Amino acid sequence: LLQAQRVYKNYGANEVLKGVDLDVMPGTVVCILGPSGSGKSTFLRCINHLERIRSGRISIDGDLIGYRQDGDKLHELDEKAISRQRAEVGMVFQDFNLFAHYTAAENVMAGPVLVRGEDRTSARARAIELLTRVGLADKVDAYPRQLSGGQQQRVAIARALAMRPKLMLFDEPTSALDPELVGEVLDVMRALAAEGQTMIVVTHEVGFAREVADVVVFMDQGVILEQGPPTAVLNNPSNPRTQSFLSKVL
Ligand code: ATP
Ligand code: MG
Repeated sequence: LLQAQRVYKNYGANEVLKGVDLDVMPGTVVCILGPSGSGKSTFLRCINHLERIRSGRISIDGDLIGYRQDGDKLHELDEKAISRQRAEVGMVFQDFNLFAHYTAAENVMAGPVLVRGEDRTSARARAIELLTRVGLADKVDAYPRQLSGGQQQRVAIARALAMRPKLMLFDEPTSALDPELVGEVLDVMRALAAEGQTMIVVTHEVGFAREVADVVVFMDQGVILEQGPPTAVLNNPSNPRTQSFLSKVL
């Protein structure tokens, strides 16, 4: 479903991604682990063309992200085409990023109504259905400030799902939460995975990766050092840097 080939990205002299290759099969969960500053968030942002890559290519379902190819030349897509591509990819961040002056339901409806032009009645019905799915049937009309961090994050997940994304990206979705709220968010993600949603999850939750991931990727200093089934990467890492990282987080 997702193909990233030799992706390079720099901020000025800082080379952040140095040839990242990753294939994500439909219906699978890929968990990305790695030390701070290794380029995990940058890589997710590149998948959405929120960052321009220096070289390489990223495609979803064969559709080149951010560019159109003309012979051997690449031309950047216009904003409209880029937003169309972004609508296929749901993104959930560490700090929820909900609209503070919208209720839970309005947050979930915003994409379908404003981007897709769906009518409010059916968008609200679907928002209620999605909020029910993430366990928030009783919070439909609550504002973000009336919700706990775990509840806000589940609204953010429902909001991303409202666009029926082919791919869901999660960037440390539980890092900002109090420990007792982590479980409820991971449960929602586990259920999504079981339903066959393709997802890439940057996380420090090694237990979640072990249990839910089809593929675990270890990223360090802008490259993927190791990838494979969780048992291989987590229990039996071949790279010394993976070993040392895991010995600190486990
Ligand atoms: P963390 O685990 O702390 O979230 P990460 O693996 O997600 O780390 P990134 O946020 O992708 O790492 O950052 C990788 C590198 O890119 C870092 O050196 C960071 O300082 C740099 N960087 C990230 N975003 C920008 C930006 N907008 N402008 C300049 N440098 C940036
Ligand atoms: Mg990050």
